[in-house]
Amino acid sequence: MSNLTISKFGGSSVKNAEAMRRCSQILSKRPESRVVIISATYNTTNELEEMAGLSLKQIGDAKNHLDKLFDRHLDLAKSLNCSNDSLSMINELKLEASELIVKMNSEGHYSPEVMDQVYSLGERLSSTIFSSFLSNELKSKVIYFDIRKVLHTDSSFTRAIPNIEKIKLSTLEHLVPLIEDNNIIVTQGFVGCSLDGKTTTLGREGSDYSATLLGEALNATQVNIWTDVPGIATADPKKMISAKFVKEMNFEEASVLAKNGAKVLFPDTLEPIKRSNSTVFVGSSLNPELGGTLINSKVEPSRMVGMASEFNRVTISGTDMSTHKEKILEFIESYNPNILASNHNELTLEFSDQQVEVAFRLLHGFLFEE
Ligand code: ADP
Ligand code: ASP
Ligand code: MG
Repeated sequence: MSNLTISKFGGSSVKNAEAMRRCSQILSKRPESRVVIISATYNTTNELEEMAGLSLKQIGDAKNHLDKLFDRHLDLAKSLNCSNDSLSMINELKLEASELIVKMNSEGHYSPEVMDQVYSLGERLSSTIFSSFLSNELKSKVIYFDIRKVLHTDSSFTRAIPNIEKIKLSTLEHLVPLIEDNNIIVTQGFVGCSLDGKTTTLGREGSDYSATLLGEALNATQVNIWTDVPGIATADPKKMISAKFVKEMNFEEASVLAKNGAKVLFPDTLEPIKRSNSTVFVGSSLNPELGGTLINSKVEPSRMVGMASEFNRVTISGTDMSTHKEKILEFIESYNPNILASNHNELTLEFSDQQVEVAFRLLHGFLFEE
């Protein structure tokens, strides 16, 4: 669809009423953003995991946990003047959650299949609240949309693989008419549906991927990923205060970071965007005025854009990395790293467990701090 963008808000961006208000302001300034993808509110997915664990040990504790989680969401909904319909939907979700607790308790275990039903509650709750709130705030009609109608996956519960062709067909059938009818769609990240109709999820942190999959299916011009930092930086800005935000990256450079430990994007996020050749913007819902990182297909001749780390590996991402490889290896020679991957966009080095952190800092200083 022409001139359509998608906006995804992560857990910290929708963590409370104030945060949801900021999201609504962002959307009101961007009328072309017609599809909104919401993560569970901050830490809710972890709490649902804890609830599942408790249901095996002490059903009473699991139920208390559930009460607290739902009370918090009901309070949030009330403070945002959500409709009675949305309050009823929240109560229905609570019933569903209670039944799942009883099931897990009586079976003495929970399968990945049951866990996905539990996980889905987080995003279904947050999107119920946000859609009702947004329809109070915006002039346009807002529709709560169950993503399970279109986001088809295989049956690998908790790490489901999307079925791109089916997603495209169902999006055309179920979502496009609603958008053409001038509605704003609010839906869930992370959640999908197997071909036999069971609830699945794409893997922890997978809402970014939901956003780009829908972006591809709808042929959106841009997918905006709103999070708690103003873009992608040369290293995790929460761990490295000297990290610098990067204004522009290409798909390959950003993909290398996402696949090698930069948690700001789920690893597969950029695959649909590479196929559909649109763009991704990553920015802060707390401070949208700070701008962010634009990820597109432009290729620069030779540069380095950032670093990521996972386990005892350090990855440097850029373009034409072979021209930088020698000076990097020379600088870090005394640490004697193994070269795990070396190609046009990536150099991944393996250090000992004791040295990896200090090697990361030294390399970041050498490559990205003047
Ligand atoms: P959300 O809940 O919005 O999906 P995440 O916590 O998954 O947010 O991702 C945002 C976090 O990613 C940031 O707070 C930051 O600590 C972390 N992060 C890791 N590497 C990077 C990086 N290179 N650039 C920006 N943020 C990064
Ligand atoms: N809520 C899910 C998680 O915390 C998915 C996401 O936020 O992207 O893993
Ligand atoms: Mg995330």
